[in-house]
Amino acid sequence: MSEKKTGGISVNTENIFPVIKKWLYSEKDIFLREIVSNATDAITKLKRLESLGEIEANTAPYRIDVTLNKAAKTLTVEDNGIGMTEEELKKYICSIALSGAVDFIQKYEGEGEGSKNGIIGHFGLGFYSAFMVSDTVEIHTRSYTGAPAVHWTCSADGEYEIEADDKEGRGTEIIMHITDEEAAYLEAGKIREMLNKYCAFMPVEIYFDDGSEKKEDEGEKPINDTTPLWQKSPADCTEEEYKDFYRKVFYDFREPLFQIHINADYPLNFKGILYFPRIANNYESIEGQVKLYYNQVFVADNIKEVIPEYLLMLKGVLDCPELPLNVSRSYLQTNSYVSKVSAHIVKKVADKLVSMCRDDREQYEKVWDDIKTFVEYACMRDNKFWNRTKDCLLLKLTDNRHVTISDYLETAKEKHENTVYYTTDPALQAQYIAMYEAQDIAVVHFDNMLDTQFAATVESQMQGVKFVRVDADVAGILKGEEQVSENTALAELFKKVSGNDKLTVKFEALKDADIPTILNVSEESRRMEDMMRMYRMTGGEGAMPDFPVDTTLIVNISSPLVEKVATMQTADSAKAEPFAAYLYRLAVLSHRRFNAEEMQAFLKESYRILAELAQ
Ligand code: ADP
Repeated sequence: MSEKKTGGISVNTENIFPVIKKWLYSEKDIFLREIVSNATDAITKLKRLESLGEIEANTAPYRIDVTLNKAAKTLTVEDNGIGMTEEELKKYICSIALSGAVDFIQKYEGEGEGSKNGIIGHFGLGFYSAFMVSDTVEIHTRSYTGAPAVHWTCSADGEYEIEADDKEGRGTEIIMHITDEEAAYLEAGKIREMLNKYCAFMPVEIYFDDGSEKKEDEGEKPINDTTPLWQKSPADCTEEEYKDFYRKVFYDFREPLFQIHINADYPLNFKGILYFPRIANNYESIEGQVKLYYNQVFVADNIKEVIPEYLLMLKGVLDCPELPLNVSRSYLQTNSYVSKVSAHIVKKVADKLVSMCRDDREQYEKVWDDIKTFVEYACMRDNKFWNRTKDCLLLKLTDNRHVTISDYLETAKEKHENTVYYTTDPALQAQYIAMYEAQDIAVVHFDNMLDTQFAATVESQMQGVKFVRVDADVAGILKGEEQVSENTALAELFKKVSGNDKLTVKFEALKDADIPTILNVSEESRRMEDMMRMYRMTGGEGAMPDFPVDTTLIVNISSPLVEKVATMQTADSAKAEPFAAYLYRLAVLSHRRFNAEEMQAFLKESYRILAELAQ
């Protein structure tokens, strides 16, 4: 080829370039992934020919070089892969590729506004994405076939030139002349960050020359790991390798709790490693990250169509070479392959929990507090997950033991069938807990906001099971056999001193004679209040009453103190009043925090009593 040829890119050139240039403003970074993955493909193709014996074995190692030349304002990606002949270049670069890009953009535009983030991983533009950041792109290429090398230059208006080239080695060199507006892509830090994000696990060694002087003893090191751990068989991976990989990918120096290595064969054909990260005990702060790859090329983070949203609390990598990439999220939602992948992942995660609970209970209990929030949330969100894991969900007891829900219910059979007693605050509810423990009844410790919501899920899943807070059913389980008659006058007195005319006063003979009075708030009305509180926390109006509507003061007639106040009341109601008031305050104290006024009154009264005693 001696003379220069010129031409115009054949498909809609006038409008395609401006569109490419402004396309996906926020995702311009992907151009480097597209160009480097083309280079990887070119090398993979050559390797295949080599393994088929169609060409002689390659002597020089396969590699991709990314070179930054700030002075010349160029970024170059060079491979020693298959290369292109002039015909191929015309066919693949000048027409077909661009028509693919046109299709893609039309499709993307058809998706309407706001769909910019709807296209998974923004695949599809391929080679032409280079024009998002360049005003001119050059290709020097020499095919493995021995055909003469060619040089192609194309400006951002779509006009190109092809001429003979003196490139000696086989392969392709793409030179991107970065525009002044996109000068950020001439910064070594920026390019390094992009390579780390998109190319860290590509299957061919990639070297980055940032243009700075190299020290003599500085050996060459590729920026990527060509055989990421997920590609290995789980049997060949060590714990140390899993931890190293986690640190490297997520920059999280807290060790993960454990991991699940998925290696799904045909027909799903995907691989991945999911880690349970160490998390704080507050589910709001859980922020996972599941990175999606396509043949070792990074696509996107946290694609909830591929992995259920609740599993996104995990950290990990998934490589789905079968995934249709150039598609919108709405397409993925209805794609049956994607839903099978998602279901498989859910099953694997659930299986892991079940096997840990069965085979390594000690370790499972150790990590339970860390994974609990995640597991509970998953059960709340997904019936299937609940069904798979229901036998290995643990309840933490106030004495720090862990039992499964079914074990708890089994023990409960005799005394409190189908009822799980729980506390949300062992310090505040200590009095109640002690009463249950005295009866050998185990109390579950809910230490997380999600626990109570999870309890509601268990109730709806397990017919007849009820979660009852320790302060909601005091009389139900802790009363003795004795028949008790009402004392209307004393009841009125307690009502009066409480200042709450909706208060119900009930006389019971409790097994524990030391406790004179105790408050009981029905589970339903308290849950209602809790919901109101949540609502208020998220900006709702109104002040909280001190007690939920359905509050009962249990007056324990087995208590000598109660006997005393009853006698006093019959003799002299006025004298009995401060006594009853104090007993009532003690009941409040063992139930909830005092407000300021109550605290003042209580302390004042206590000092007065002490002074009286001291006389
Ligand atoms: P895609 O990669 O999706 O096919 P591209 O626009 O990225 O679309 O590239 C179009 C075609 O150009 C590729 O299929 C390939 O045949 C050719 N090509 C691109 N880059 C290279 C390269 N570095 N070496 C050899 N061929 C290449």
